Amino acid sequence: MQLLDGKALSKTIQKEIKTAVEKRLEEGKKRPHLAAILVGTDGASQTYVGHKVKMCKAVGFQSTLIQLANNTSQTELLEHIQKLNENTDIDGFIVQLPLPKHIDVPTITEAIDYQKDVDGFHPQNIGRMAQNLPCFLPATPAGILELLARHQVPTSGKECVVIGRSNIVGRPMSILLSRNASPGNCTVTLCHSRTQNLADYTRRADILVVALGKAEFITADMVKEGAVVVDVGITRVPDASRKRGYRLAGDVKFDEVAPKCSFITPVPGGVGPMTVTSLLLNTLRAAENRTQK
Ligand code: NAD
Repeated sequence: MQLLDGKALSKTIQKEIKTAVEKRLEEGKKRPHLAAILVGTDGASQTYVGHKVKMCKAVGFQSTLIQLANNTSQTELLEHIQKLNENTDIDGFIVQLPLPKHIDVPTITEAIDYQKDVDGFHPQNIGRMAQNLPCFLPATPAGILELLARHQVPTSGKECVVIGRSNIVGRPMSILLSRNASPGNCTVTLCHSRTQNLADYTRRADILVVALGKAEFITADMVKEGAVVVDVGITRVPDASRKRGYRLAGDVKFDEVAPKCSFITPVPGGVGPMTVTSLLLNTLRAAENRTQK
């Protein structure tokens, strides 16, 4: 069993990004600039955004954090988005999800200039992704592709099962792995909450990508011997023995599944760090695209 170590790979890629930024500065170009809008006080979202800002600094990007109250109206949020769309100093920006219930996520996603949409959620980017055209890929699936590519995990002709059909992880992942590309060229089945007899599918998978958000849901009997298992799930499980009162659990029962695998991602330290790194890579690309213009 080989660990798909996202933490270590992220460090390597972040060094590469830092070098690219230094080269840009030597050439008289500006630092890439990422902005993030955070609405409300959700604890996990604050942690994620705080981490993104910290990582921007680590690779030499400029960052701007716009914090808005939980009762910010959709109109106000759209005004902030419009300002960022028009701000020529901003290369890319994200609106941290989830948003408060009174805000319509698709409306917000579509309002972002797709050329600054470094989360890769805009329908224009998703459509271009489906057609294998240059675009910003959604950060988590892009990070998973990078993990597979840099560990030289064979994907062509493999049977792949993705669990979860969210717009940000499962569905784009299923499209990416089915594309005529490398990594890709898998035969993909997308499973979801209405799938009957889920284990019949998972047991066939050479590559199993799990993104359903239920702690330790996938057990050893659901996994084929020698499978590649990518665990996207992050759930806070109460744990009185930890100082913060919880531990982070993946969707896979790692201890019993890992011995059966050829490759597996740990949680934490697998897909999570790669997601942030993909966002940085997208932002660097956005800055390069804007420089070329
Ligand atoms: P979501 O909550 O939007 O959707 C969950 C999906 O799982 C749905 O499509 C649903 O149909 C499916 N599902 C639920 N129960 C199921 C069942 N019993 N059998 C089969 N399918 C079932 O999911 P999301 O936003 O993609 O997030 C999934 C998990 O990944 C969460 O734990 C989230 O925190 C985590 N996540 C991690 C990262 C990262 O960077 N590591 C990024 C995004 C999401």
